[in-house]
Amino acid sequence: MRFEIVTIFPGFFAGFFEHGIVRRAQAERLVTIGVHDLRAFTHDRHRTVDDRPFGGGEGMVLKPEPLAEALEALGIESKAGGSLCSPTLATETSREDGARKVVEAAAGNAGPSTPAAEAASAQDDGTRAKTRVILLSAQGRRFTQAVARELAVLDRAILICGRYEGVDERINELYCDMELSIGDYVLSGGELAAAVVLDATMRLIPGVLGNEASGEFESFGVPDASITSDLEGVPRSQHGAGGLLDYPHYTRPADFRGLRAPEVLLNGDHQQIRQWRREQQLRKTLANRPDLLEQAALNAEDRRLLDQIRRQR
Ligand code: SAM
Repeated sequence: MRFEIVTIFPGFFAGFFEHGIVRRAQAERLVTIGVHDLRAFTHDRHRTVDDRPFGGGEGMVLKPEPLAEALEALGIESKAGGSLCSPTLATETSREDGARKVVEAAAGNAGPSTPAAEAASAQDDGTRAKTRVILLSAQGRRFTQAVARELAVLDRAILICGRYEGVDERINELYCDMELSIGDYVLSGGELAAAVVLDATMRLIPGVLGNEASGEFESFGVPDASITSDLEGVPRSQHGAGGLLDYPHYTRPADFRGLRAPEVLLNGDHQQIRQWRREQQLRKTLANRPDLLEQAALNAEDRRLLDQIRRQR
C-alpha cells in the first residue's frame, strides 16, 4: 500500500518513518510513503499557502490552489471535472522537478519513482478505484480500528494535513473522499493525525506485523467471538477478539517490587489462562469502554462473567 502525505511540514515525519514497524514495512516494500511539500505547489516568491478567511474571523486558511495542484500532480482529478492544469502538464511538471516537489520518506525507502509516475501507473492498471483522498479534520468522521480496516485494503491513501484554521472547504468538496478525525480534540495540524492513521492502517496490511493474525487479536479486533487460536503452543485465548479491549500483559520478572504477576499465568494451564484473560478483557472493557460491550460478540459464559463482575463492583 502506498501512502501520500500532503503537508507544509514535510520534515515532521522523518523520525516517525525511521523507527519500528513503519521502518520495517518500508524496507520490505509492504508500504511505500511519499511526503509532498505543499509549498512546492505555490508560484509566488513567498511560497504562500494560506490566506485570510472570507467573512472575517481569527486565523488563516490553507488556500485551495496549491492543494489542488498537489492532488492533481498525484493523479487525482477534481470531482467537478476541471483541473487547474491538464493531467499531461501535471505529470510532466512533476516528472521534471519531482525531486524538488517530493520528499521521499525514510532515506529513499519510499519508492524509486515520482508520485505522479506511480499515480499514472496505478491508473493504468485500473487501481484508481482503490485510492482514497482523506482530509484530516477535527470535523471528520471518527477514525477507529474499523476505519483502519477499511483503509488497509486500499492501494493508496492520500492524507491531507490541514494547518491554521483548516483547509478551504472546496478542496474537501472537489477532491476528498472522506474527512477523518482522530479524536474529539483540536490539534495544531493534521501531521500527527496523518501519522496516527498511517500507523494504525499499516499494521493491518498482511505481512506487516510478521504474524498475520496479530492484528485480529488486539483491542478493537473484529467482533467475532469464534476467533481463538494457538500459536506455537501459546494459548491466544480470545485475545482482543469479540470487539473487546485487550487483557493485561505481564513478563519477567514474576515478582516486580513486591507485585507478583498473576499466578494463573505462571502455572501453564492453558484453559485457566484463557478463562482468566477473557474475564480481564470483560473487566477492562466494562471499566474503561462500556460502550464497546453493546457491539461485542459475547457468548453465554461471557454474559455470566459480566454479571458476576457487575455484582462485585
Ligand atoms: N478550526 C478547526 C476546527 O475547529 O475544527 C481546527 C483547525 S486545526 C487548528 C488545524 C488542522 O489540524 C486541521 O485542519 C486538521 O487538519 C488538523 N486537526 C486538528 N484536530 C484534528 C483531529 N482531531 N483529527 C484530525 N485532524 C485534526
